[in-house]
Amino acid sequence: MSDKAYLLCLRTVDTYYSMIVPGSTKSNCSACGNSVYISPESLKVKEDRGALVLCMQCSVEYIRTARDEDPLEAFVFTQGQVEEAKKMRETKHENIQRN
Ligand SMILES: [Zn+2]
Repeated sequence: MSDKAYLLCLRTVDTYYSMIVPGSTKSNCSACGNSVYISPESLKVKEDRGALVLCMQCSVEYIRTARDEDPLEAFVFTQGQVEEAKKMRETKHENIQRN
């Protein structure tokens, strides 16, 4: 298995506010250089493991052209990232009930 690790991030230009994990900061796609949002938990993975940021479009291209030596497991999803996503989902539900 490759020691490369990638983070799938959304480009700032394509992202609705409701899709941004609270506390996210901006980073850049390591392939195309576009500005992306990176969540706090993803930022930890980037700093701790040296994971490379890929925007959604470059992630799709990576998957589409993947060779055997480019394993799809290279996309990192940590428990912390899952918990962040769950919290976001709960926040959305609260918003729906209030409105
Ligand atoms: Zn990109």
